[in-house]
Amino acid sequence: MAQAPSLQDSLLAWFSEHGRNLPWRREYQPYHVWLSEIMLQQTQMERVLAYFPRWLAAFPDLASLAQAEEQEVLRLWEGLGYYSRARNLHQTARILHRHHNSTLPADHAALLKLPGIGRYTAGAIMSLAFNLPCPIVDANVERLFARLFNLAEPVKAKSSQAFIWGKAEELIPPGKARLFNQSLMELGALVCQPRAPKCAACPLRLHCAALARGLVAQRPVAGKARETIAIRMVTGVLSHRGRIFIQKRLANDVWPNLWEFPGGVIEGDETPEEALRREYLEETGFAIHRPEKLLDLKHSYTRYRVTLHCYACRLAGSATRPRLAAAQEYRWVTPGELGHFAFPAPHRRLIDRLGAGLAQ
Ligand code: SF4
Repeated sequence: MAQAPSLQDSLLAWFSEHGRNLPWRREYQPYHVWLSEIMLQQTQMERVLAYFPRWLAAFPDLASLAQAEEQEVLRLWEGLGYYSRARNLHQTARILHRHHNSTLPADHAALLKLPGIGRYTAGAIMSLAFNLPCPIVDANVERLFARLFNLAEPVKAKSSQAFIWGKAEELIPPGKARLFNQSLMELGALVCQPRAPKCAACPLRLHCAALARGLVAQRPVAGKARETIAIRMVTGVLSHRGRIFIQKRLANDVWPNLWEFPGGVIEGDETPEEALRREYLEETGFAIHRPEKLLDLKHSYTRYRVTLHCYACRLAGSATRPRLAAAQEYRWVTPGELGHFAFPAPHRRLIDRLGAGLAQ
């Protein structure tokens, strides 16, 4: 393709001037590259920039991560969401500790066998950490290529994916996979943005097929919108003599091994208070009384849009030992101790919002 060298040169020149100075770009250590890629998968850059140094202070290398307790790892991940990523990091660190001397292998097929490492992450480690010619395609690259090559099919269509991955591989200049792959993603993030791309400032404007045809606003072609499901849930902060009841979720449930306040889905035409009493009885055997509304929280989980009705409540009887039906452990903790446990994001938000008002 005759224009390819020019496209590559334009892009690399732009990146050397405008690429952001990110912590994992200083030395390109494989562990740092891997960690940053996993953190960035479903989390905004600003948040990752806050968490990344905190994580490295606790687990400076793969060996220290491998030796950590799962609760320590989950607690540190709290706020980033999608805890399966933290579990996979931990599990992979343990595998690498046992079988690879605590190093990430520069081997695409071997990387793909590790928990939480798919085609994108394997390509990122291969190219960014080891500068080997493996393509990577994230949402930024998909959007950029859909415009650059004027794709008339949705980017998630099989044919589009094959085209985009093929192009991403074909365009890598010899010996420059690290810089080239980053420059593609960076251009997508900073210039070829979802809304109002900055075409006038784009180093690829002379190569852009969508711009030439006046079709930028129509690219990428939207795929079928994913159906979302609204659900109502309830949870209750049960306090007794200055302590709060928490339970640890089962290992094979949603949010495995995280701590929570009991609660669940509001069924049929139940009121939130009725659902809370039922859930407490089913999950712990506790009868509760006087549920008092605290607040409502909205959050999204995959395709669910959840409204979580949050209550404060008291024990109706005097027994404090639960009969656990949906948890593996329980504790009665002081408000100050809640910081030592890993909670799902909405429960942590509840704790943060209540602050000093907890367990009064
Ligand atoms: S010219 Fe505009 S649409 Fe084309 S790649 Fe650049 S920013 Fe994207």
